[in-house]
Amino acid sequence: MDAVTPPVTVARHGAVGVIAIDFAPVNALSKAVRQGLLDAVRALEADPDVAALVISGGPGRFIAGADIREMSQPPDAPFLPDVVAAIDACAKPVVAAIAGAALGGGCEIALACDLRLGGPKALMGLTETRLGLIPGAGGTQRLPRLVGVAQAIALICEGRVLKAGDALALGLLDEVVEGDLLAEAIARAPGVPKRRLSALPVPAGDAAADEAAAARARKAAKGVPAIDEAIRVIRAAGEFATGLALERAAFLALRESAEAKALRHLFFAEREAGKVPGLESVAPRPLEAVAVIGAGTMGAGIAVALADAGLSVTLVERDGEAAAAGLQRVADLYARQVKSGRLTDAQGVERRARVTPTADWSRLAAADLVVEAAFEDLAVKADIFRRLDAVAKPGAVLATNTSYLDLDAIAAVTSRPQDVVGLHFFAPANVMKLLEVVRPALAAPDVIATALALAKRMGKQPVVAGNCDGFIGNRIYALYRRHAEVLVEDGASPQAVDAALEAYGFAMGIFAVSDMSGLDIAYAMRKRRAATRDPAERYVSIADRLVEQGRLGRKTGAGWYAYDAAGGKSADPVVEALIAEGRAEKAIVPRSFTPEQIQRRLLAVMANEGAKALAEGIALRASDIDLAFVHGYGFPRTRGGPMWAADQMGLRAVVTEVEAAHAAGGAGSEPAPLLLALARDGRGFADWQPTEQAEQQGGQQP
Ligand code: NAD
Repeated sequence: MDAVTPPVTVARHGAVGVIAIDFAPVNALSKAVRQGLLDAVRALEADPDVAALVISGGPGRFIAGADIREMSQPPDAPFLPDVVAAIDACAKPVVAAIAGAALGGGCEIALACDLRLGGPKALMGLTETRLGLIPGAGGTQRLPRLVGVAQAIALICEGRVLKAGDALALGLLDEVVEGDLLAEAIARAPGVPKRRLSALPVPAGDAAADEAAAARARKAAKGVPAIDEAIRVIRAAGEFATGLALERAAFLALRESAEAKALRHLFFAEREAGKVPGLESVAPRPLEAVAVIGAGTMGAGIAVALADAGLSVTLVERDGEAAAAGLQRVADLYARQVKSGRLTDAQGVERRARVTPTADWSRLAAADLVVEAAFEDLAVKADIFRRLDAVAKPGAVLATNTSYLDLDAIAAVTSRPQDVVGLHFFAPANVMKLLEVVRPALAAPDVIATALALAKRMGKQPVVAGNCDGFIGNRIYALYRRHAEVLVEDGASPQAVDAALEAYGFAMGIFAVSDMSGLDIAYAMRKRRAATRDPAERYVSIADRLVEQGRLGRKTGAGWYAYDAAGGKSADPVVEALIAEGRAEKAIVPRSFTPEQIQRRLLAVMANEGAKALAEGIALRASDIDLAFVHGYGFPRTRGGPMWAADQMGLRAVVTEVEAAHAAGGAGSEPAPLLLALARDGRGFADWQPTEQAEQQGGQQP
């Protein structure tokens, strides 16, 4: 009956008017949905035959949140607060029938209703802070009236998503309905007493608990401005109308903030990264049984990550003793998760039982996918892949976790190069989100599709990379580290470089990170490359000298820093002397660098190398590079990644920095032609399309 404009329709069930939203895929609150909701509420309120309203998102859905694309455009009426205000002002009872996600603005709509009935799959949460915002349609004012200020601060600042049971326990849902949710809502609606949260007082709380919640949120937020604003506005929830006005002003200001824009960029980047041109209709190969070869630091972590995804894992080592040691590593990783409360005892035991250690290679015959994580040595890996070729079943995906080695060379030792792929996990592999999927020249499309499907199943963020030294991440990281060392040789202290990076938002500076990973790995890589290194490249040998003195980083108690027994780090006069010696040998007169100069230089060299990777087709899009650094290298999310940050700096300014870096760093640091071209045209990386690169290459897709 009285159909309104799609995507929102109205139907009458006796005296109940049901407002149904049908806007695929998740009923996002775009303009048409807001308009439809507003019209529907007004029409039903005015209809004398209607006694009560139900808002439904259809089976399995409610309203998953704002339409994030619209957030980068000027606000367009009707605004969400208008819709929520219409519900709040409606003289008739309004029931929310929440069968799926009620997040962000969807949750705010639900909070304006008198009764919230959820299905077993309902999800509730005010998740705006994840996008650098605060709720903008009353969420910061209604939630504290429901759960108190301290709990509201925790829920909003963490952007927590509550499953039906938890939402019920906290009172965000009034009931969970196992049967027909919509029928129940319709049956109940006419008798529902009015209970508008806007009319309720904020429960008298405990000032100390509120303050503790605020302090916890600020600590976890690491300077994200939305968190401070959320706390301020939630605490102002005493008088509803005043609080609402404060909330709206803060929301609109945050929407335009650099942080929110960077977070929106990453939101889209994360969804885009799994899409690879040409793979749209390629089905992945089936995956159930998987195996890992090598149960060291990475192999054990990868086995845990696979077991966490519900897969059964065969963990292959060189001999029985090494296999047992590998299983012990797996057990230790689970024990840590149980101890920290992330897993229950039973879950730890169950997941660990999915991993079977062995030294028997014939066990690999059952695997649908094998990840090799043995030593970083081409001869070792070639030998393993030859043996694997002999035992693995036809169609099995053969993956390597190599950090730098040539994937084509590894694939070439097998009789099935089409089945070989790089799966580059980051340490610790069961924690870090990034999975670089490295695509050798001969890889079959369904092998890449399988890798992407696996990433999804494991909850990892995939980024597809072409085959080159270091792929996307380590290739750019190598330049970043080289220039950090150049800065040190030219006058900055390692502590000053680290402090500048931490001030920029990195959790740790690059020298502290190097000490943590161990200086021997990069040392071995430099030795391997020594013969082919361009003599015109500036070579800073301070790190080599540290390693040659046995200073391998944290594991030896000394590296770029000195470490005390408790792991505390401090500047070390020995390192200062080494640096001074290195400068003296090259007759360098040390100069000083401000934190901003350090930040700009290092950002520029990252973006410059990123531009080279883009032009070569190693990265498909600039946003993939951003994701690699945000999810694999601790680049601050609120800066959006190095390519995004370079765009914000302005590519002309980036070129100037890169020219200075080139003058300081010599060969290998030349400005990228793509960077120069974009800067000349006044463009940014964000609006560069991979097709432009295909055109430059005569129409060939990489
Ligand atoms: P590791 O030395 O801790 O572990 C390697 C393991 O492989 C050892 O347990 C060893 O016994 C086993 N192994 C060696 N040869 C084998 C063989 N023929 N058959 C079965 N097992 C064998 O090394 P790691 O740090 O775990 O690195 C493994 C791989 O992962 C390397 O390719 C490395 O470049 C890559 N990687 C490492 C990191 C990191 O941060 N450590 C990050 C990403 C990728």
